[in-house]
Amino acid sequence: MPISHYQCSQCERKFEPGSVTYTCLTCGGNLDTHFSFEDDPSQVHQSEILESKETSLWRYAPLLAVPDPGFENTPLHRVGLTPIYQPEKLREELGLRTLFVKDESCNPSASFKDRASAIVISRAIEANIDTIIAASTGNAGAAMACMAASVGKRAIILAPRSAPPAKIAQLLTFGAEVILVDGSYDDAFDLSISASNEFGWYNRNTGYNPYTVEGKKTAGLEIWEQVIRFLPAESDLNVFIPVGDGNILSGVAKGFVDLLALGWIKKLPRLIGVQAEGSSAIYNAFIQKRNQIEPVIASTVADSISVDLPRDGLRALNRVRQSSGFFITVTDQQILAAIPQLGSAGLFVEPAAAAAYAGLLHALKSNQIDPATPALVLATGSGLKDINAAMRSVHPAPIIEPSLDKLKEVLRV
Ligand SMILES: *Cc1c(COP(=O)(O)O)cnc(C)c1O
Ligand SMILES: [Zn+2]
Repeated sequence: MPISHYQCSQCERKFEPGSVTYTCLTCGGNLDTHFSFEDDPSQVHQSEILESKETSLWRYAPLLAVPDPGFENTPLHRVGLTPIYQPEKLREELGLRTLFVKDESCNPSASFKDRASAIVISRAIEANIDTIIAASTGNAGAAMACMAASVGKRAIILAPRSAPPAKIAQLLTFGAEVILVDGSYDDAFDLSISASNEFGWYNRNTGYNPYTVEGKKTAGLEIWEQVIRFLPAESDLNVFIPVGDGNILSGVAKGFVDLLALGWIKKLPRLIGVQAEGSSAIYNAFIQKRNQIEPVIASTVADSISVDLPRDGLRALNRVRQSSGFFITVTDQQILAAIPQLGSAGLFVEPAAAAAYAGLLHALKSNQIDPATPALVLATGSGLKDINAAMRSVHPAPIIEPSLDKLKEVLRV
């Protein structure tokens, strides 16, 4: 579906497609992408999507900002359409009537970020750009490197040197040109923008390139196809999303906003943004009812949501308000405790994903949500991304001599 125009999410200035590449030329705000189906929903039929044989996010091609570029037999065509689980054990423990967990570790590079990178790389293909640069705490870079490798493009990734080794290993293995910046994610972010300005490379940065949200919205579209369609029309849905920059939340929300414009849903699901207590810049603004986000000095075990200055914070704040949702924070202890809890249902998650589940637990305990309302947790990344955190969340295994007696001793049988 061709883009009809962009509109600044802050000052509402409109831009013709092609007249702007990244952010608002007036205020620097992030751009929302608009389509003609918003004015004329008859341009897209549900059946086009529901009857599609495509088992990736490309099944939503009629609603996407770029055409399907092909590369059918590559990881680019395995992004999205991730499973939704209904873990009965966790549902009972929580005392919820209905629980869904969407497992984003099934994406090719094992995190939600593949959705954004798939659409950005497809935009690079459409625009004939060969080099893509991104700043990343790890997952966005790994996703970009994976998608670039799938289609034979050059990826340059700037990551903070503190990124978990598994993510750096992925970047290097995918053949990206990886540069570790002796500084924070925010330092890497600014440097990548200077570099893309200087060299004319395409910049994938989160909360900068409007196509990331257009990729991330596919999760919202899937939640509609896999869950909302089957709920009673009057039912609410509480969606728990881990938040660092706020771009995943803005993306999922954009999916719902598009569906609302199409008339395929009647109201927005309630969005609940979960931040780490040590990285809570957007939460702070929400609680203080401010329209400005003060940076923090972020420190949390959940590296993927450790952000000093959220790059899509204002838009995420507005989307949460628009959906009658809220922000909540969880401690590192709560995050680590959630790793084996999800593990007990067969899900292996990285700390940021565990944070979303910890947020659900905390929201229930503090009576901020109704246990009768269905809840969905977006499990954004695989536990293999950060083995150290996983090991911190469990007791070490006992080591024994290879004898039956010793085994009986430790198993207490
Ligand atoms: C990037 C990321 C997040 C947070 O997304 P933002 O857009 O920064 O809010 C959460 N979980 C995982 C696994 C991520 O990689
Ligand atoms: Zn603006």
